Amino acid sequence: MYVSSPFLVLGLSPEIFDVHIKNREYKGLSNGEVLSGRLQVVHRHHLHTGLAEGARRHGPNIVIDARVSKIDYSPGPEVTVTTEKGATYTFDLLIGSDGLKSVVRKALFPDVKPRAPTTNAAYRALIPYETVYNEVPEAKELFGNNIDVWMLEKGYVITYPISAGKDFNLVLSHHRSKPVEDIEDVDIDELRKFYNDIDPRVQKVIKLIPDSKGWPLMVTGPLESWSSPTKNVVLMGDAAHSIVNHMVQGAATSMEDGTFLGRVIGEVVEGVLSLQEAVAIYEKTRMPRALVKQQSSFTLGAVYMFEDGPRQRTRDDSSTGSVETTEGQDAVERLTQGGNRRVEGPDPNAQSWNLWDAPESMQSVFGYDAEGDAEGDADHAVLVYLQDHREKGWDRWTGMSRGLEEKWTGWYLPREEVGRIRNSRGSKF
Ligand SMILES: Cc1cc2nc3c(=O)[nH]c(=O)nc-3n(C[C@H](O)[C@H](O)[C@H](O)COP(=O)(O)OP(=O)(O)OC[C@H]3O[C@@H](n4cnc5c(N)ncnc54)[C@H](O)[C@@H]3O)c2cc1C
Repeated sequence: MYVSSPFLVLGLSPEIFDVHIKNREYKGLSNGEVLSGRLQVVHRHHLHTGLAEGARRHGPNIVIDARVSKIDYSPGPEVTVTTEKGATYTFDLLIGSDGLKSVVRKALFPDVKPRAPTTNAAYRALIPYETVYNEVPEAKELFGNNIDVWMLEKGYVITYPISAGKDFNLVLSHHRSKPVEDIEDVDIDELRKFYNDIDPRVQKVIKLIPDSKGWPLMVTGPLESWSSPTKNVVLMGDAAHSIVNHMVQGAATSMEDGTFLGRVIGEVVEGVLSLQEAVAIYEKTRMPRALVKQQSSFTLGAVYMFEDGPRQRTRDDSSTGSVETTEGQDAVERLTQGGNRRVEGPDPNAQSWNLWDAPESMQSVFGYDAEGDAEGDADHAVLVYLQDHREKGWDRWTGMSRGLEEKWTGWYLPREEVGRIRNSRGSKF
């Protein structure tokens, strides 16, 4: 399961990802040829509804409106939580996926505090496409089924469609005079003023934004551990590793955590691993993955918002290679003609400063397969663990592990058939 797309499943898959550079003819830096199928856009509410429905169909007991206020996890092995309404629940494992202000993290690591690493803040707006096109007809030349990044000194605007193309989403980001650590009300005229330098068509669309809030961009960690000493409590998502927004990977990384943890806990259900082992494998594998995402997001934010000067000029001059290998300048000109904005023939292997499309980060960020990483690739975490714990996990005679057989045959064979290859010692199958 690939969950690394920034906006995740359901609905629309943008075809083009363009980066527009200030004070130049606008350039498409990359396009959907490379990212096609990897970027999918979904409104948060729709995603939550889909996830909740998916969970319900698997039959768990879901309790809502239950804010946890107290957690007793020591000495273990069980964990008891108490809600603000006074209800108590006891579990073998508590997963703290309770976001930036996580009470679970506070219970485990009271000294850890998310921080705003820079003065950068984000502002969001959703405007129906109908309004955008009625009020700013020339915006049709620019916006369609695209993700666009408009780079400015110390700021940017990212736009993309959402809600299956009904709404136009804008993320405006720029540096403030001091760090923003809480959601803030915004003077809308002041916000608009920052973007006075951008393409006039985009400016007109920004003027349609009635109001917005300033969102802090907080980083958590890297933590020394994501779990309690006895591994009966474990963190995931923003609780463990909140991340700045520039690669739009916060929700995706949280979903990767969930996917990965689900797979290794599957091994507990199968009797291959203990809960403690599963949690340890999750931490060992996922902690560095999240750290890479945190760093790539931070780097790209800095690069998008370079101050005008030598670094910015070198960045801009390095862009042509990923537009087109041989006819970069022609491609740039074609892009500026309004009609056909698609760049033909970008080189997917061209080095790019834009980590959204750089070959180095494409695979680890957008091509990352959380299930495969857990159990299903040659170096997957469970198999690596089993190498060191040879008494467990696979059939000693056939040399087959459950994870790989399931990956390669489980998508078409009935469930009761999966395992026959692994256990086919001395038999024909
Ligand atoms: C302005 C903005 C824009 C963003 N845009 C994107 C984007 O485009 N793409 C992207 O990938 N990411 C984006 N993110 C980041 C993304 O929202 C987070 O990374 C993601 O929501 C983290 O998921 P999570 O499940 O870890 O935490 P959350 O989504 O914060 O969920 C935590 C849940 O825990 C519940 N909870 C909290 N405390 C308790 C308690 N004590 N007891 C019980 N329940 C509790 C909360 O009610 C909530 O339901 C954006 C973030 C912001 C602020």
